This record gives sequence, structure tokens and C-alpha cells, in this order.
Amino acid sequence: MSLGVNSTYDVIVVGGGHNGMVAASYLAKSGKRVLLLEARGNLGGASISYQAFPEFPVHLSRYSYLVSLFPDQIKADLSLNFRTISRKVSSYTPVQQGDEHLGLLVERTPGAATADSFYKLTGSHTEFEKWRDFYGRLEGLAQFLAPTLLEPLRTEVDLKSNFADGALWREIFEQPIGVTVSQYFRDDIVRGVVLTDALVGTFSSVDDLQANICFLYHVIGNGTGEWRVPEGGMGALAKELSRVATNSGVEILLNRRVDAISGGTSGVEVSTSDGEGYFARNLVWAADDRSLARLLGTPERPRRDGSQMKINMLLKQLPELKSGFDPNLAFAGTFHIDESAIQLESAFQLAKAGVLPQVIPAEVYCHSLTDQSIVGETGLHTLTLFAFHTPAELFEENRELNTAKVTERIISGINTYLASPIEDALAYDSQGRACLEVKSPLDLEDELDLPRGNIFHGDLTMPFAQELPAGAWGSETEQANIFLGGASAIRGGGVSGIAGHNAAFAIINKG
Ligand SMILES: Cc1cc2nc3c(=O)[nH]c(=O)nc-3n(C[C@H](O)[C@H](O)[C@H](O)COP(=O)(O)OP(=O)(O)OC[C@H]3O[C@@H](n4cnc5c(N)ncnc54)[C@H](O)[C@@H]3O)c2cc1C
Repeated sequence: MSLGVNSTYDVIVVGGGHNGMVAASYLAKSGKRVLLLEARGNLGGASISYQAFPEFPVHLSRYSYLVSLFPDQIKADLSLNFRTISRKVSSYTPVQQGDEHLGLLVERTPGAATADSFYKLTGSHTEFEKWRDFYGRLEGLAQFLAPTLLEPLRTEVDLKSNFADGALWREIFEQPIGVTVSQYFRDDIVRGVVLTDALVGTFSSVDDLQANICFLYHVIGNGTGEWRVPEGGMGALAKELSRVATNSGVEILLNRRVDAISGGTSGVEVSTSDGEGYFARNLVWAADDRSLARLLGTPERPRRDGSQMKINMLLKQLPELKSGFDPNLAFAGTFHIDESAIQLESAFQLAKAGVLPQVIPAEVYCHSLTDQSIVGETGLHTLTLFAFHTPAELFEENRELNTAKVTERIISGINTYLASPIEDALAYDSQGRACLEVKSPLDLEDELDLPRGNIFHGDLTMPFAQELPAGAWGSETEQANIFLGGASAIRGGGVSGIAGHNAAFAIINKG
């Protein structure tokens, strides 16, 4: 352990991602003396903006990029000056049928253009009617569940018995989401558009209930499930949280990796990589739970590999589509590439068997169409690509070659639907290098400590418990004064601040 304890605090928060800053701010505002220790030279964790291409003053959301789960209540409680902006459309899916190129448009509020698009793709109005029914009922679930995320944890029995739509509860919580979606929808493309929400950052078959949990977190945010663009990029949230934490009196130390923890009933002592030691009555661990388990010598929970590639690009102009659909609308929402239900499942089965899928499902977002502030006067566009079913394991042998191979396959996938290749639309620097950066799950592990590149630190959890002591928040650990305040807490994961909020209240309520 450390040579000497530097200072004593009410609470030490380890990890300066957005959750750590939320926890620290609530605790400091409640009158606690709080120290926040962050391993890296910057705050924000996976929620940062970054000038990835030095010649171009564009600060893109380097890792996480859309916000839905961050509750308005936390924004109000902490007086955060942070805005998110609605996208013009929800999604566009280009489709090739024989020689014909068409597409499925889903407006943000589905109306006549969406109905028309469903009709042209599926040949009837049934799929759109089902869509409205399904998402209408899901909104009821979102409104019911969202407020509970900031309250003490409840049991499944309690939540279920208080939710009026018992059939929907069974469809979302008890039977595989793949089954539910195939009961509602018949079209493979439509099914795929729905199912992508079950697979973002989750290496799973849609027949596994883990996919249901991922789906759930993608449709309940703030009681609407709408995914919005953070104004000024994700870094704007980190910057604002750091301002609020500092103004609330949180002491923040950067470049301090916590590498040992010890303690007993009176408190917890941590030491950092520079040999310093700090003591507090309580500890919020807002970094990944794998490293906490390693430091405490407790068993690690099983977790799936992170399985996504993130590719950030700068474009000189938006590419035209073979379908002829306006790229200003097609790229304004989520642009789905090769994400039909069959393609999603087949890519998963191949990757699970250790084979790099030939066709890699992916989705693309152009945030500069919604928020021009991130590109300033450059006239450029940002394009963020998030690919599925490329698990860490596939990169372990020959990492460089496999990263290049996956990138090539993803680019070839998008090019299937473009009138001219994406390479023609990319910006290039003065050395002729394309403005394109690729992050495999192993890169995410190196750069952010995400265990196996898992973007949620570990498998997401249902937002309830089977049984629990009264007043538990889902942050508690086996040690009475150590709390999980990051993505790996129950109800953590995503840019939500919920885990940070709940860890703070678990401590505040202890007195
Ligand atoms: C590529 C990518 C895309 C994503 N897209 C989205 C999205 O669009 N929307 C969304 O809602 N979610 C998205 N996510 C998920 C989301 O970003 C994370 O779930 C969220 O950032 C977790 O926040 P956190 O504060 O709990 O942890 P993190 O952001 O992981 O921060 C943890 C912090 O702890 C620090 N740390 C680690 N170990 C130590 C130690 N020993 N001592 C001190 N400090 C330590 C790290 O340096 C880091 O700063 C994405 C994630 C990734 C990687």
C-alpha cells in the first residue's frame, strides 16, 4: 500500500468518465468532501470530443456519439448547460432488390413519407401499422420505466405487477427479442432495423435474452427512447460536467491511476501509480468493474467481448446514393448497412465460430447535418460508423492485418449503396492521407480500459433485481463502503449518468 496517506475525504471517486463526474458533483453538492482520481490526462472517458485529424479543426465525438439515456432530471439537478438536438429523420436503410436500389425511410415522427416508404418496400400497409403499434406500446413502457432508473432498485415482481401491458412485458422481458420481432414483423429488412437496437455494443444472438436488455436500454431513454445529437459533440457534456464538479468543490487529480485498495469498516485507502495514498469513508468506483475485482482479489463477473468497430471519417461532401434518395436526409439519421435480421444473425454466428464475417452489418451517422458547430467553417462533414459482430477475439492474432481486413469489408459494404465510392467523398490531408480513423475493440481496451473493448464495461443488466435489501440502489458491492458508480453498475451503461447518480444517493442516504 502507499507510503503515507495524503489526505482524508468523505468520498473518493475513481474514474473521471461522465458517470464519475455526475457522482462527484451530487456528493459535493450534498456537502461531502470529494476527491476524484482519473488515470488519464483528461476527463470524460468514452464521452469526449477530439481533433482526430490535425490539419482539420473538427472536434468529433471520438467514441460515444448519441444521447438518449441521460435523464433531464440530472441535467436540472446539476444545472448542466448541455443540449441535445433532434435528428431530422430516425433512420434510412438502403436496399438492393435485384438491379433495383430503393430504401426504407423512418421519419423521427413517422408520417406519410414513412408510410409510403414501407409500402414501396413491403408491398402493403401492414408492416407500418405493426410498427406504429409496437413503438406506441413501447413508449408506454419507456414512460413507466425511465423514472424508476433514478430511484432505489425495485424487484422484477414489483415492477411487473405495476405495469399495465402484461403482454408487452412478456414480449420484452421474457421471450427472446428475436421471437418478439418476428411475431410483429414479416419483412427481413424491417425486422433488422428494429433488431439493431438489441445488438449495439452487445455480442449476442437475438435469441438470447441479453439482446432484450440491450434493446430495452435503446428504447426507454427519458421516457421516449429518442436518440439525439449532443450539441458541440460529446466533449461538450464532459466539459460541462467538469465545470459543475469543480464549482461544487470536487478536487480533481488527473494522471492518477488507482492501483491498490485496502480498508475496513472505518473507510477505504487507495494508492495511485505515483505512490501517493488517499483515505475516505466511502469509495465510488466509476471505472470498469473488472479492474476493481482485480484490485480487491474478488472473482470477475463473466462478460462478453466488445464486438464493435468504430470508424470516424471526415468528408468533403456527402456521397450520392444509388437509390437516388437525398443524402442530406439519408445520413441525418441512422443509415443502416447490411443489417437485415438474417444478415445480423449470420454475422453473429460466423463471428462466434471465430470467422471474420464477409458482410459486416454497420450503421453510419452524419452529426454535422444536425449540429454544424462541430465542423465550424471548414465546410466538411463528419461521418461516424459503428459496425457489429467484430469481437475482440477476432483481432487477437494479427491485429493490424485483421483491422485492415475488417475496415476493407465495411467500406465495401457501404459502397454497395453509393453512386460513387466513399473514398471519393473523404477528405485527405496534405500528405494524401484519408481522414479515417479506426477503433477495434482492442484499441478501445488500450485507450479507455474497456474490458475486452466492451463499451458498457460488461454485459448490461435488467433494470430490476430478483430480491434485494430495502433501499438498495444497484451500486452496492460486497464491501459496505465501496459502490459501483460507472457503467457496470446495475442500470449503468451508455451515456446516462444514472450509475453515477445512484452511487451518490446510495452514499448520501447512508448519512
Ligand atoms: C465506441 C463507443 C461508442 C459508444 N457510443 C455510445 C453512444 O452513442 N451513446 C451512448 O449512450 N453510449 C455509447 N457508448 C457507451 C458509453 O460511452 C459508455 O457506456 C459510457 O461512456 C460509460 O461511462 P462511464 O463514466 O461509466 O465510464 P468511462 O467513460 O469508461 O470512464 C471511465 C473512466 O475511468 C478511468 N479509469 C479507468 N481505470 C482507472 C483507474 N484504475 N484509476 C483511475 N481512473 C481509471 C478511465 O480512464 C475513464 O476516464 C459508446 C462507447 C464506445 C466505446
